Amino acid sequence: MIGLGRFGSHLAESLAALGREVLAIDRDAQQVQKWSSMIDQVTQADATDEEVLRQLGLSDVQRVVVAIGASVEASVLTVLALVELGIPQIWARATSGQHAKILSSVGAHRVLFPEAETGERLAHLIISRTLDFV
Ligand code: ATP
Repeated sequence: MIGLGRFGSHLAESLAALGREVLAIDRDAQQVQKWSSMIDQVTQADATDEEVLRQLGLSDVQRVVVAIGASVEASVLTVLALVELGIPQIWARATSGQHAKILSSVGAHRVLFPEAETGERLAHLIISRTLDFV
């Protein structure tokens, strides 16, 4: 998991609760400290640096989720570094249609829109619950 903001930290915590081994990376020391007791391995690093990712052993990881949202530059450079490392499954979060296009064109295998996907799921849930009471 790269980026322990609200989305990345909840996803990493849920995967850990489901018994998966999670390696999380964030450049912010406060985030690293906050999550270190809940997630197996949390490391402070700049994920745009391919060599740093290699040293952290990411070349052997099967799937990486890039949960950085606000900085398109950091998100795209991180995906590029992961492509260079040959990660088989790179899933990356986008915050706009343009961001999504760039992520796909640099090699992300799947683009995520957590806010839009959650909104859509909730709309279906609300409608199904509403019908239950009609
Ligand atoms: P959320 O909505 O999930 O809370 P956000 O949009 O508020 O996220 P972002 O700027 O997307 O915040 O950053 C999410 C996390 O990614 C932050 O904890 C930030 O420190 C981390 N992050 C940003 N750039 C990098 C980077 N180059 N390397 C590692 N971590 C990074």
